[in-house]
Amino acid sequence: MKRTTGTDRSITRTWRKATQAVRAGTWRSEQGETSEALFLTSGFAYDNAETAAARFRGDQQGMTYSRLQNPTVAMLEERIAMLDGAEACRVQASGMAAMTAALLCQLSVGDHVVAGRAAFGSCRWLVDQLLPRFGITATTIDARDNAAWEAAIQPNTKVFFFETPANPTMDVVDLAFVCGLARSRGIVSVVDNAFATPALQRPIEWGADVVAYSATKLMDGQGRVLAGAVSGSADFINNVLLPFQRNTGPNLSPFNAWVVLKGLETLDLRVKKQSENALQVGKFLEGRVPRINFPGLPSHPQHELAMKQMDACGPIFSFEVEGREQAHGLLDALELIDISNNIGDSRSLMCHNASTTHYSVSAEARAEMGVSEGMLRLNVGLEDPLDLIDDLDRALKAVGL
Ligand SMILES: *Cc1c(COP(=O)(O)O)cnc(C)c1O
Repeated sequence: MKRTTGTDRSITRTWRKATQAVRAGTWRSEQGETSEALFLTSGFAYDNAETAAARFRGDQQGMTYSRLQNPTVAMLEERIAMLDGAEACRVQASGMAAMTAALLCQLSVGDHVVAGRAAFGSCRWLVDQLLPRFGITATTIDARDNAAWEAAIQPNTKVFFFETPANPTMDVVDLAFVCGLARSRGIVSVVDNAFATPALQRPIEWGADVVAYSATKLMDGQGRVLAGAVSGSADFINNVLLPFQRNTGPNLSPFNAWVVLKGLETLDLRVKKQSENALQVGKFLEGRVPRINFPGLPSHPQHELAMKQMDACGPIFSFEVEGREQAHGLLDALELIDISNNIGDSRSLMCHNASTTHYSVSAEARAEMGVSEGMLRLNVGLEDPLDLIDDLDRALKAVGL
């Protein structure tokens, strides 16, 4: 394997994000392939016994076993680290594998977590159901409220965990304040950046310690594979995350890593165009539906903060109709937009969160975090936005809106 300029960090760090998304982390085999090679291998052979021993001792660089390292996976990790402006990154089999690893690798019995109450359903399940089983307590707060973060800190608080924008309420968290507060108190901030990706928002630039992703969403961007990623300092990744990951094995398959590498090549293009399309569709819906939660719209109470932290609004937002019956009726009347709970796809997809993504969250927790019975979440894809508006217009009329 030969390094290309794509792996010389002193050079790739100076590149702009769109360039890094195409080229950072590229290794070439002796064949000189342009597209990254796919190493579908679990193991590696050694020239002699001493080489094997030296690799396991850590005295010699090189691959040993794909649960520990794999060339295709390593290319993706290097590229995401560059995009995040992080020292290091490790990828996992799904976004939830990434969130679970990012939390469990550093938490122990007796620790306390402060978490944003508006969150992806499984992220809330981790905080509400899994952590307490291991003696880790958690306080969930309105993450938009800076004072609430400060008030929730306990002497044993070890981690702040939140999403911004949050799934599906689109709550925006003040990254500079919350990550700065965490750092000043010796607390590790873990930011789920799935809705923005590093193409739109780089939490490390605002003081975040750890950034975690569902790469299934915008990074793949075409609805093909599950993937996750965790970025942070070399110390955190190598000394805290890696011992956990290498011994518990939530690894990403090299094939899925390769698919996400291909996805990253068009990330910048897609998120910018999908953000533009979302804004056009959002402007159509504003005023037509009882409520819209979209920080990209100037009327949103957190518009200014969102646009300070993000380069564009992203393709995802939610809106609310009267109740579950009207929401389901609207979904059933769609002809172009699919009823699907995935997001970040180049296709437009819509779902009713209370009965799907947040079904596993209790009704009380849904009400507390603002996931109403009439809430619908829309991922705006790469179709012509005028066709999406026609589809929505027809479906809204069908339910009397
Ligand atoms: C989808 C999602 C996850 C989980 O990711 P998977 O790849 O589906 O496991 C976590 N956080 C957020 C914000 C998400 O949207």
